[in-house]
Order: sequence, then C-alpha cells, then structure tokens
Amino acid sequence: MSDRRPLIVGNWKMNGNHLEAIQMVQKLSYRLEETDYESVEIVVAPPFTSLRSIQIVLEQDRIPMKLGAQNVYWAEKGAYTGEVSATMLAKMNVTHVIVGHSERRAIFGETDSDVNKKAKAALSADMTPIVCVGETLEQREAGEAEAVVTNQLNGSIKGLEGAFVVAYEPVWAIGTGRNALPEDAALMARVIREGLRERVGSDRAELTSILYGGSVNPVNIKDLMAKSDIDGALVGGASLDPDKFASIIRYRI
Ligand code: PEP
Repeated sequence: MSDRRPLIVGNWKMNGNHLEAIQMVQKLSYRLEETDYESVEIVVAPPFTSLRSIQIVLEQDRIPMKLGAQNVYWAEKGAYTGEVSATMLAKMNVTHVIVGHSERRAIFGETDSDVNKKAKAALSADMTPIVCVGETLEQREAGEAEAVVTNQLNGSIKGLEGAFVVAYEPVWAIGTGRNALPEDAALMARVIREGLRERVGSDRAELTSILYGGSVNPVNIKDLMAKSDIDGALVGGASLDPDKFASIIRYRI
C-alpha cells in the first residue's frame, strides 16, 4: 500500500447551468459522510460558469470537497478573448485544473506543449494540474499505447516544478461505457510511474497520484482501485449522477 491518498475527480464537462450545479453538489454531499472525505480527496470540476456558485455552497455549507476547473489559459491576463487565467481560478479557491483532456486535444487541437504551459500556469497559481494522457483505439491496436502515453507524458510534464497528478484516460474508454480492464489500466499506470521515475526522480514519482479515467462506474471502481499504481479516478458521465458518483467515492463500502 502506498501513502498516496485516493483522489476522485468528477469532470462534469459542458453540462449543467449554475443552479443545476448547486443542486448536484448538494445532493452529492447529502450522500457522503465525514469518513468519506477523510478517506478520499474529492474534487468536482464543473463548467467555468458554475465555479463561483459552487465555491460559495462549499464554503457556506462547510462541505470539504475541492473545486476543480476543466481548463486554464497560460497567460496571466490580456487580449485572449474567451480565456480564463490561473489566477482568476485560484481566486475562487479552485485547487485542481484538468489539463490536456483528450477532448481538448482532439476537438481544440491542444498539443503537449500547450498542456505543459497550462500545467505550469496552474502551478504558478498554487493549483494542482491534472495532466491527462491516453492513446486512441487505433494506437492501442497498433501496439503503440505505451509509446504514445510516454511521449504525451514527457511533453506535458517537462520542467514542472510542483506537485501534479497524472490521469491515464484511454480515448476509446471515455464516454463509451467500455472501460479498460483493470489489469490493462494497471499496466499503463505502472508504465506512467516508471516514466515519472525517469523524468522527476523516484521520490516525486512515488508521491504523484495516477488516476484512471474512462467509463468508471460504481461497479468497476473497486477492481481499479485495488491496483497498486492506480490512486484514484477521473470520472465523466457517472459524476453527473449524485447517486452513482457517491457510490464511486464510497467504493470501499
Ligand atoms: C472523462 O471525460 O474524463 C471521462 C473519463 O469520461 P467518462 O467517465 O464518461 O468515460
């Protein structure tokens, strides 16, 4: 067993207005007990438009959940229409920022170098970047999964000076209902841990949490979490359902 505390992150993607977001977080909190927060670090990452509302609910209701953002821009301020800076997020008590999600890579053309700049921006505002990596089905079938993930990792974490999280999210498993077999996910998590040892040294590699993401649900979470290099989950679809997300968080029960 490692000393890494399990981390479960809900990525709500572009779903819910701020009123619905408040309801979701309240419903989730009703289903959780103090011991759940003690044993698992819980992060919800709503759309930007809901961050402030959720920040207020978490503070007012003293809910020890953390707030995540789904993206960030690397510049501090200026003429970047439509973008949001790291300091703007940190000011709302955002603690985690998802960078390099496969949807951002595929739909918005983000490169490893972009992801690296975003991760550095998050760190510079004292937030933890959650750096996403993962292969497509085509790449997996061509036997390239390890090389693709290692390359993405190397490009994305280059020169990061603070603590970060890595999320292994095979693209073919995201939103498809087809999760990776726990053994395959564990193998890739081991490859990532080994890559981290080479890149940032053994001590930091041991401290870095590696999440699995891709159709995580209340049934498959237990087997995934039983793998020694898997420290948590990045959950998309199931995190929109407070019952399901609460069961994922309470995977030990
Ligand atoms: C995700 O978007 O990060 C994700 C893992 O989605 P889902 O759980 O829906 O596959």
